[in-house]
Amino acid sequence: MTRLLEFTSRGVYCARADCYIDPKRVVDHAIITHAHSDHARRGSKHYLAHRLTVPVLHHRLGKKISTQPVEYGEEIIINGVRFSLHPAGHVIGSAQVRVEFAGEVWVVTGDYKLEHDMLAGSFEPVRCDVFCTESTFGLPVYRWPESAGVIGDMNEWWRKNKQNGITSVLFGYSLGKAQRLLYSVDQTTGPVYVHPAIEQINEVFRQQGIPIPKVHTLSGSTAVNNMESALVIIPPNAMKNGWLDHVPRYSTAYASGWMATQNISWVRNADTGFVISDHADWDGLNEAVRLSGAETVYVTHGFTEQFSRWLREQGYDALPIDY
Ligand SMILES: [Zn+2]
Repeated sequence: MTRLLEFTSRGVYCARADCYIDPKRVVDHAIITHAHSDHARRGSKHYLAHRLTVPVLHHRLGKKISTQPVEYGEEIIINGVRFSLHPAGHVIGSAQVRVEFAGEVWVVTGDYKLEHDMLAGSFEPVRCDVFCTESTFGLPVYRWPESAGVIGDMNEWWRKNKQNGITSVLFGYSLGKAQRLLYSVDQTTGPVYVHPAIEQINEVFRQQGIPIPKVHTLSGSTAVNNMESALVIIPPNAMKNGWLDHVPRYSTAYASGWMATQNISWVRNADTGFVISDHADWDGLNEAVRLSGAETVYVTHGFTEQFSRWLREQGYDALPIDY
């Protein structure tokens, strides 16, 4: 008997409905948890996603792609299989996928966090028989400090840099982290500039009615006034493309869960760091598994071996999945 969902080289597959969740290759029918590039790939024939994710898919994958926007909790039935999306709290529009057939329920989380950040919404626990969870930070060393304190430290870092005439540069991914940082920083300190890739995503969300703060867009070549009091937010990979060449003095910081250990080489390329993550930490992963009520847990993305072993020690039927 085939299982309701299978882990294949193309992605998580539901044979009965002939569709994939976050497919890794080109497929006919894709259900997308969120628009980060390792979950939403170009070329599939049709994409189903939350209505706030769909405009980002069009921005990133092409205006002409075929899409179907759905609300959280809206039920889509394909060949008797019931699909619905539920808040994952990871980035704006991110979703867990609930799949039900003949009384059996699976949940595929995509990326998620339990902490409410005012922007991505609250993670919704969904009861299920089989829980497929990410484990990006699935080690006990990853436990996030309270975010209000971290944001206070980040604002203090900017104020100190400003007093010393140094531009503050924060690295954050253009979808998710950048918007969260914009919501978090104290904009009375000075002007805020963002990389154009970030501003494009900001504008996509503003058009959906989400009040992303208005900020300046960074130019790659033009020097601007008051740069020494500014905060600049750019994606980590933009650093090497000369975006800061016209900034005389600056200090850099990563806003990332990896800063909890600082043992990743790319983290060392910054002057400082702030532990702000859009993923669940160790306690959050364990809490999500508990809240699911599932006895069977499949662990993907990240520390799959370690987290699934831990879950087995706690009595779960847990397996790492590297597909
Ligand atoms: Zn993600």
